[in-house]
Amino acid sequence: MTTDKSRVPVIAGPCSAESEAQVLTAARALASAGVKMFRAGVWKPRTKPGGFEGIGNRALQWLRKAKEQTGMSVATEVATATHVREAMEAGIDILWIGARTSANPFAVQEIADALAAYPQESRDRLTVLIKNPVNPDLELWIGAIERVERAGIRNLGAIHRGFSSYGRHLYRNPPKWRIPIELRRRLPGLPIYCDPSHIAGKKELVESISQQALDLGFDGLMIESHPTPEEALSDASQQLTPDALVSMLGRLRCRRGAIDSEPLEELRGRIDSIDDELLDLLAKRMRVSREIGLYKEEHGMPILQKDRYNSLMQQRVERGVSLGLDSAFVRQILAAIHEESVREQLTMRREC
Ligand code: PEP
Ligand code: MN
Repeated sequence: MTTDKSRVPVIAGPCSAESEAQVLTAARALASAGVKMFRAGVWKPRTKPGGFEGIGNRALQWLRKAKEQTGMSVATEVATATHVREAMEAGIDILWIGARTSANPFAVQEIADALAAYPQESRDRLTVLIKNPVNPDLELWIGAIERVERAGIRNLGAIHRGFSSYGRHLYRNPPKWRIPIELRRRLPGLPIYCDPSHIAGKKELVESISQQALDLGFDGLMIESHPTPEEALSDASQQLTPDALVSMLGRLRCRRGAIDSEPLEELRGRIDSIDDELLDLLAKRMRVSREIGLYKEEHGMPILQKDRYNSLMQQRVERGVSLGLDSAFVRQILAAIHEESVREQLTMRREC
């Protein structure tokens, strides 16, 4: 289940199966790098109509071939009872329920009922992984896991792929690490994978998310990898070539069991994610401040409004102190943020 380089179980492969050659090229490259589990989406849930919606049933045969030729286990996403039956027939080893599907209890129940119809022996050969719902709702996630568990699936796991959020963010789906950490507390024996590709949305950020996941003691990673990512028919910007994936895995520091046995690493992971949230918020604040700059410019107002600055500073320092922060520290941070807003607004005026 693990690659030599990272010592953590990795499921890797393209976002979508696009052609037999693409599937087999990716599978061979990943298998020779030590990856033991291969993923490829066959049915693709797309936000808008008209996008590439996957090859469908025909691509299951490419996955079967990849399995025969490389010995890897193969994984694909299912969203309906028909998908379950077709994937089972094609000998798929790992099914995952996608984020849009796990948000819908009717759909999850339909999948669970389809699974429950198989003899226990077939269900025991199968692994089912449940991605978090797109919205940050832990109970909905746990509900989806329970539905599949009640269908007699014993090899169960969760995949954390971040949560959709309105507006622009550093990440495509901000991780909100507190939610999978709480899932771990609520369902202690359940393996939790992290999908850094869908959290990051950009290949440059996949490594730092993967490292944070390992620091937090996640049990494995699901990472998108395509032989020619720039030509990918879905999620082109977040896929790594197999070579890039292997070198990234080699750089990751693996600290297994952090959640249970390495409190320091767990705390550091939490600090890392809080820092990410702080940066996200600062970037959001600067965008609003630029909008204010535009408004002032259009209405011939000066950039510095001294009275407003003094009253805000006072209110915020009081609030900071009531939260247990040192007043000089709060003052210093607010002054730095304000200075940067003014600098941005001045730069905008020069550019106008
Ligand atoms: C995928 O894994 O390609 C996928 C569609 O994921 P998600 O359900 O997390 O969006
Ligand atoms: Mn994808």
